[in-house]
Amino acid sequence: MNIILFGPPGAGKGTQADNIIRIFNLHKISTGDLLRNEVNNKTDLGIKIKSIIEEGSLVSDDIINNLIIKILSDKKFYNRLIFDGYPRNLDQAINFDLLLKNYKQKMSCVLNLKVDKELVIKRILGRQTCTKCGFIFNEFFRPATSQNHACGNKFLVKRVDDNEKTILHRYKTYLDRTLPILDYYKKLNLLHEINGKAEIGDIFKEISTIIASLEA
Ligand code: ADP
Repeated sequence: MNIILFGPPGAGKGTQADNIIRIFNLHKISTGDLLRNEVNNKTDLGIKIKSIIEEGSLVSDDIINNLIIKILSDKKFYNRLIFDGYPRNLDQAINFDLLLKNYKQKMSCVLNLKVDKELVIKRILGRQTCTKCGFIFNEFFRPATSQNHACGNKFLVKRVDDNEKTILHRYKTYLDRTLPILDYYKKLNLLHEINGKAEIGDIFKEISTIIASLEA
């Protein structure tokens, strides 16, 4: 079973993916995280894509396709993947189908987290990530406390692209390039609509029921 978590930036894809992999035997693949690692480690690829990520545009399909091929060809991930932030445009989606066929895997469902623009902007401006455990918190909606986070506040950082100017560009990129993919998956009968405005726990329950029914 492979799953796509779909939605605008700040929809809660990363948060839900983290919850899902704690319960189900699935691996999270966030293309954003993979690219940010390259930037942080100052690899050749990271140096090339740094400014693209910081302005909130999409990196080239070739780069993304190579990352995805590495994942799909890795036996430890075979058919147990949850994708966060991929595919991001129609060409990536069409190519993804070909790659899945090549690696004898299939897409089980696409979960669309629906959230409006005002809410995602607020969520993104409050987002904090722990550099130690990778967990995502939110200053406004889910602050890190001594009860929910053992690493301590000194590890909490904001992403460089989580600022007011870049988020508007990322949202526009989402509307122009990413949203059109939904129709593609609707036609393939893979789409599930989820209310992304609900409580984190309630969204997770809804998603868990869908995944459990696919596992059955
Ligand atoms: P968000 O969904 O919150 O905008 P991500 O962490 O998914 O953030 O992505 C951060 C950035 O990484 C994007 O703005 C883009 O530059 C790049 N990126 C991530 N995934 C892709 C992809 N599949 N195709 C092209 N660029 C991507």
